[in-house]
Amino acid sequence: MHDVVRAQLLERPGRPLRAAELPRPTLREGEIRIAVDACGVCRTDLHIRDGELPEPMLPLVLGHEIVGRVIEGGSRFVEGARVGVPWLAWACGRCRACRAGRENLCENAVFTGYTRDGGYADETVADERFCFPLPEDRDAPELAPLLCAGLIGFRSLRFAGDAERIGLYGFGAAAHIVAQVARAEGRRIFALTRRGDDDAQSLARELGADWAGAVDDPLPEELDAAIIFAPAGELVPRALRAVARGGRVVCAGIHMSDIPSFPYELLWGERSIASVANLTRADGEEFFVRVAATPVTTHVERFPLAEAESALARLRAGAVRGAAVLVT
Ligand SMILES: [Zn+2]
Ligand SMILES: [Zn+2]
Repeated sequence: MHDVVRAQLLERPGRPLRAAELPRPTLREGEIRIAVDACGVCRTDLHIRDGELPEPMLPLVLGHEIVGRVIEGGSRFVEGARVGVPWLAWACGRCRACRAGRENLCENAVFTGYTRDGGYADETVADERFCFPLPEDRDAPELAPLLCAGLIGFRSLRFAGDAERIGLYGFGAAAHIVAQVARAEGRRIFALTRRGDDDAQSLARELGADWAGAVDDPLPEELDAAIIFAPAGELVPRALRAVARGGRVVCAGIHMSDIPSFPYELLWGERSIASVANLTRADGEEFFVRVAATPVTTHVERFPLAEAESALARLRAGAVRGAAVLVT
């Protein structure tokens, strides 16, 4: 055990991350210290890095798809246990949302890699009550994208109700996981990507999509629901146009460019638009049971921790096939 934490640090949004050695934080009640094995690179990290999300804690260690092992602290896990740390780092348990079982909407919530330090580091500290026990039979980098892309994708799929034909707008980390869960439930997948993103389209077909094409290609049939992962507001009216009456458009990202105005006719016919925010611990418990029962393969591009900035740049450019993961 060393006496500093080696991290990739965000000092100011808009500036590249830099390597830093930070003092090891003292553990508080209920906290565990974790040796990080892998940390996924989520689009939210990119939004924070680029200054598109308000008021991050600064300086900040990004990263909320953490897979690691318990070094010390807490009482829930034994030393050496494999744990996952998700986006929801803490919820108050007392506000209206928490009392209604919707801790994802907690007014006082703390978020990993946003309002507290996350996993772009060789060690991190987390509240053990918000961590998940993880299986031993898979590589850490393959598990990491499940912690946010998988979980938020799963919650988004729940919001799509019993829709059979699902359009996934943007086929990256979250969509490639949700496509597999949806296929296992007997649903059909239509993947829509940027024009010319042959990699993403071929990955979608490999994972069982009925159809893959560009967002402005004509779809072969109507959709029952659409899940939008790409942060582009113009996709909302486009997806409304693609869903049948009664269909739902689910916006899964934390940030999106402005939605252009559209004729009411697109919403008419009991179509609806919803956003999905954060996760609850119950989502995680259900999702990890599901993942154990359904084989879900994650496609990952691995980067050494020191190359976090290049991983973010590749994600920004839409060049990552599947999910990007930092390996320590
Ligand atoms: Zn609360
Ligand atoms: Zn995320």
